[in-house]
Amino acid sequence: NRRIVLASRPSGEPADSDFRLETGAVPEPGPGQLLLRTVYLSLDPYMRGRMSDAPSYAEPVQVGQPMVGGTVARVVASRHADYPVGEWVLSQSGWQDYAVSDGSGLLKLGSAPERPSYSLGVLGMPGFTGYMGLLDIGQPKAGETVVVAAASGAVGAVVGQLAKIHGCKAVGIAGGPDKCRYVVEELGFDACIDHRDPAMANLLAKAVPQGIDVYFENVGGAVFDAVLPLLNPRARVPVCGLISAYNATSLPDGPDRLPLLMRTILTKRIKMQGFIIFNEYAPRFGEFRAAMQELLRDGRIKYREDVVDGLENAPRGLMGLLKGENAGKRIVRVGPD
Ligand code: NDP
Repeated sequence: NRRIVLASRPSGEPADSDFRLETGAVPEPGPGQLLLRTVYLSLDPYMRGRMSDAPSYAEPVQVGQPMVGGTVARVVASRHADYPVGEWVLSQSGWQDYAVSDGSGLLKLGSAPERPSYSLGVLGMPGFTGYMGLLDIGQPKAGETVVVAAASGAVGAVVGQLAKIHGCKAVGIAGGPDKCRYVVEELGFDACIDHRDPAMANLLAKAVPQGIDVYFENVGGAVFDAVLPLLNPRARVPVCGLISAYNATSLPDGPDRLPLLMRTILTKRIKMQGFIIFNEYAPRFGEFRAAMQELLRDGRIKYREDVVDGLENAPRGLMGLLKGENAGKRIVRVGPD
């Protein structure tokens, strides 16, 4: 049984030395327990937060303990009546080949799910985040303009496509011309701005002549600075993530923008709301899965995975995700189907 543990807490960007691969015996399930073989591991930006012991909404991973993470796994041994061998489940087994479970917190995916890994992305936590953040907090109305950054990623791709389905204009922001082309040509956004282009703020202003009614915040930093003056009165800003700062070790350079932010919120009567998806919306996960399954089946939502091969490559996969090296939802193939 291989597992990747947190070897040390990073300062700034995580490095190889912050992770350690350990090998041990495969655990044995006791009475009422089952043994899970990880097939896919999800890599997500929040994992950077768990490597730090700064106060947060969730407990940090302890040094020496396996990294946490959502997984899609198969039951390979069972002493639990509800989980026969061969069953697929969505679990939280973390960065390891095998894990013992008592069944709590598992979601059954059946014995032959069509695309099991989708439960880590478009049909799982990130898809749910885009769905609830946009529809419940963003409240998009037909004809409005919705802007989302990290637009080609797991959450952003869902946000922009749902915005289109709800009759809005969708403008993405993404890193580089390839991602922008994908966002417009494959995902069907109306426009996409490259945030690495020095003219980003001007290009964004030109792309939203009617202003911005919903800004779905995934990144913060320079992108938010460009968005703020373009927000319309009564704009809604679901605050989902601030990935541009996850590796930061100090405040950004430049003047203090807090007074400008507060004045804009006041005079334009803007609604900003942060949310942590399962803390806020857990009871609505079933409703989301049913709706998203139908949209996927009808081809109205497109989805792309970026698969890293091998558990041993998970650390590099996470480091790359934080730098935008992923093309779509990043997952690790850990074991055989
Ligand atoms: P993605 O698949 O979008 O991957 C992360 C992307 O972030 C990168 O590909 C990169 O895209 C972008 N990025 C990284 N650094 C910067 C930067 N400095 N400026 C602009 N963009 C940057 O990840 P997810 O879809 O899983 O997550 C998106 C956001 O949603 C994250 O902030 C995450 O923390 C948050 N989130 C929040 C949840 C909640 O409950 N609140 C739940 C799930 C996710 P590019 O190359 O286009 O710049």
